[in-house]
Amino acid sequence: MPAIDSIDGLIEQIKAYDPGVDGELIRRAYAFAAKAHGAQKRASGEPYITHPLEVAGLLTEYRLDSASIITALLHDTVEDTGVTLEQVEKEFGQEIRVLVDGVTKLSRLEGKSEDLRQAENFRKLLLAMSEDLRVLLVKLCDRLHNMQTLKYIKSPEKRARIARETAEIYAALAERIGMRNLKEELQDLAFAELYSEARDSIVKRLEFLREQGQNEVNHTIATIREKLNEAGLPNAIIYGREKKPFSIWKKMERKNISFEQLSDIIAFRIIVDTVAECYQALGAVHANWHTVPGQFKDYISTPKSNGYQSLHTAVIGPGQQRVEMQIRTHEMHKVAEYGVAAHWTYKQGATKAQALKDGKQLKWVRELLEILEQSENPEEFLENTKLEMYHDQVFCFTPKGDIIALPRGATPVDFAYAIHSAIGDTCVGAKINGRIVPLKAQLKNGDQVEIITSKTQTPSPSWERFVVTGKARSEIRKFVRTQQKSEYVNLGKAILAKTLKAEGLELSDKLIEPLLPKLNKKLVEDVYAEVGEGLITRQAVLDAALESRKAASTGMGGMLSNLTKPLRRKAKSDGAAPMPIKGLIPGMAIHFAKCCHPIPGDRIVGIVTTGKGITIHVMDCETLENYADSPERWISVAWDTGKEEFPHISRIRAHISHEPAALATVTQVIAKELGNISNLKITHRSTDFFEILLDIEVRDTKHLNNIIANLRSREVVQSVERWQS
Ligand code: MN
Repeated sequence: MPAIDSIDGLIEQIKAYDPGVDGELIRRAYAFAAKAHGAQKRASGEPYITHPLEVAGLLTEYRLDSASIITALLHDTVEDTGVTLEQVEKEFGQEIRVLVDGVTKLSRLEGKSEDLRQAENFRKLLLAMSEDLRVLLVKLCDRLHNMQTLKYIKSPEKRARIARETAEIYAALAERIGMRNLKEELQDLAFAELYSEARDSIVKRLEFLREQGQNEVNHTIATIREKLNEAGLPNAIIYGREKKPFSIWKKMERKNISFEQLSDIIAFRIIVDTVAECYQALGAVHANWHTVPGQFKDYISTPKSNGYQSLHTAVIGPGQQRVEMQIRTHEMHKVAEYGVAAHWTYKQGATKAQALKDGKQLKWVRELLEILEQSENPEEFLENTKLEMYHDQVFCFTPKGDIIALPRGATPVDFAYAIHSAIGDTCVGAKINGRIVPLKAQLKNGDQVEIITSKTQTPSPSWERFVVTGKARSEIRKFVRTQQKSEYVNLGKAILAKTLKAEGLELSDKLIEPLLPKLNKKLVEDVYAEVGEGLITRQAVLDAALESRKAASTGMGGMLSNLTKPLRRKAKSDGAAPMPIKGLIPGMAIHFAKCCHPIPGDRIVGIVTTGKGITIHVMDCETLENYADSPERWISVAWDTGKEEFPHISRIRAHISHEPAALATVTQVIAKELGNISNLKITHRSTDFFEILLDIEVRDTKHLNNIIANLRSREVVQSVERWQS
């Protein structure tokens, strides 16, 4: 097809298949684009507007509608000039805006597919992003024209990159939607750039064989014609088609051969009216010549996934040479050449029923045609034409440019687990395209996702509510199960410690170990966990322990001392005693944070901590900032003032004079107020004062404040305050 060099030429070309086209509208789009691109030049030195004009011209080969043509004319304005989508919509309406936006988005992905091992994912991404087929068609023709003018780009590296991307991504995409002509042209242009010497030698050889073999080709066609006439198929069209340099090259690469004869470069094609005639023609060919084994393929009964249908065979032909043949109907031929675009022409030619029948093997084309069936007019059909392929997937980039394919609805947590389970387990936040987003945000095609991790983070059970991948879900469950078990272990230990203590026994692994066979458990930990979960009663463990003690005292007296060691009074804030806290999940172990030492009277909050159950912090504890991004770990709790009073450890810092008996004064004050000092540390010493940290067991904040006030009233105390670190 000749290149288009003026807007008049373009309109003329459209009128050839669409006489009713609004030429003025097309002209207006051209003027708009020409003005926007202004003095911009192509690498060739030509005015930039020649490029969108030629892209529009390439589209006319597929008889595309005005919206596609206008989109082609405008396709680079938003990306390369100051034009906005709003302006496009104001001038040309919403449909054009959506199409131009689609092409612009695809253009922004150009050059992003550096790693061609990911080409398949990248192709899917492009397909999924071109929601409207016309977007993809404009983009493919854009690429075709850029390839046709590739030679003007100066940098060899850039040319090579564009050529590789064209072969791996765009040519393959054209094939995916069945547009064979477009595919072959893109491939051959890429081939010429990447392997110019190989291509030159193939072209030379082709010319030689073509001259040598013209008579032979004509003779073969005449002989096939004769046999088909005999078979009652006088209308069959027969011709020899020369293979493209690139496909010869591919074949040579594959089979490690050189091409020597005509049969390596010419394939014969028989085109008939009906499917029945295809098989009739095949019968005639096979009846007259020997077939080459392994070469027969029936793509009519089993079409290729892009909708391609034909019978393929190879025989030892009239000149005792191998002859490859393709047999198909006219409609199949059209689909083979133009792919999905072939279906546009049905609106003028064949009936919808015929279109439906022919498209029935290709699921998404069938879906398009069903829309056609339900649409009032072809324009509506085009409007409703959405690419259904890969709509159940999204494709996102890692910061390094790798593509991760995920199901639709996937979140950053799914993404994190898709990269590595360790990334998922430690993820605390995510950035999409550089912006912080919630972990449950839904990912969109083309998003660049960066996962923020923290070594201290652990998976949250609440993630399970929004993740969509099986991998993420099973990893989270695995973690939650482990965590639950360790909480049950802690709880079981606490229960047993208390129960055994009442009988004068101190809980230890050594105490439980000999009881394992009796309790029918393998590990000491299992006993704790099952007691915590309520699967074994504390009484059962106690009975076993008592029985064992009895046996020991009668049989092996030596063990008794070990079991009846007197108990020391333990600090009560280690989770081993029932806690005066309301609002807890039953079975969760509790700890008081060592950073802020909460005591009754403090406003408190619980934080779920891996393997430790719940840690209680004072509401204004600075440590809580670490959990600001994981609200799901926060548990609202309150003191249960009805519970028996027992001491809690609090911590104070005091500066006291460096003089005799100063420390004694402090301890006396605390003792007098019934506070029990459980730890004392001198943290700083100078000539005139000591700085000390004191852990004091108190009932509640009132008790502590009382002690602090009393200390402040003493002369030797310079300052005293509650200490939180
Ligand atoms: Mn362009």
